[in-house]
Amino acid sequence: MKLTFLGTGAAGCIKTPENEITGGKRRCSSLLIDEDILIDVPLQCLDFAKKIGVDLSKVTDVLLTHSHGDHFQKSSLFKLAEQTEKKLNFWCHKNAIDNLELLENEKEKINLCLLDDMEKSDNRNAVITSLPANHMAKGDEQPLHYIIERNGKSLFYGCDGGWFMAPTWEYMRKIKLDAVVLDTTVGEDAGNFRIGTHNSFPMLRIINAALLQNGIMDENGIRIGSHIAPSVHELDHEGTAKALAEMGMITAYDGFKIEI
Ligand SMILES: [Zn+2]
Ligand SMILES: [Zn+2]
Repeated sequence: MKLTFLGTGAAGCIKTPENEITGGKRRCSSLLIDEDILIDVPLQCLDFAKKIGVDLSKVTDVLLTHSHGDHFQKSSLFKLAEQTEKKLNFWCHKNAIDNLELLENEKEKINLCLLDDMEKSDNRNAVITSLPANHMAKGDEQPLHYIIERNGKSLFYGCDGGWFMAPTWEYMRKIKLDAVVLDTTVGEDAGNFRIGTHNSFPMLRIINAALLQNGIMDENGIRIGSHIAPSVHELDHEGTAKALAEMGMITAYDGFKIEI
């Protein structure tokens, strides 16, 4: 699986267009898997993909983690739907629909694929599993983490979410992952109020130890930090990268590519 990070930030740039993103800022989080699976469609992802020469016309599936504005912009979804060769499959939690505020004619432009909190879906040559994330959205919407399995590799995408919800952790304990992308919203600030919805460095130290100790990943597994809020990191990219490297993690940045 080839991963291309089209954005690695938290909510700081929800309404900042691509042409106003300057050094030190991160675009809202979005990840392209191979050429055809896109996780989240925030404001900047299409323009940034174009800027770095990434073709999104082959995207067939968009997986939505949750409806927060730094993960979903309706304008981005339908601009993407116009660019893709095939009608988009749009995956989201079954109760996210109301929060997306889609008009009837907009619903017809995509194939809506509604997921439960925990659902395994065999989608052609990828298996997609939704798992509940420890995060909060409006109404009954349950934010989701995803496991994507393809060509014998498995990837966990966990932005947004602090720690793991019990059913998610129990599910993960039974499997082996090749790579994880973990919420890294907060830096060293152990007492930050986001503890219930996002990870910080002290939390990630425990999570990393638990992933290894319980055999969910081995030492060769790839652990990546994303959804980074520069305002609560008090470090630039290099500083964050150094801190995460000490936990055996790679720090994603906008445009970062890696093969797993
Ligand atoms: Zn977010
Ligand atoms: Zn969120």
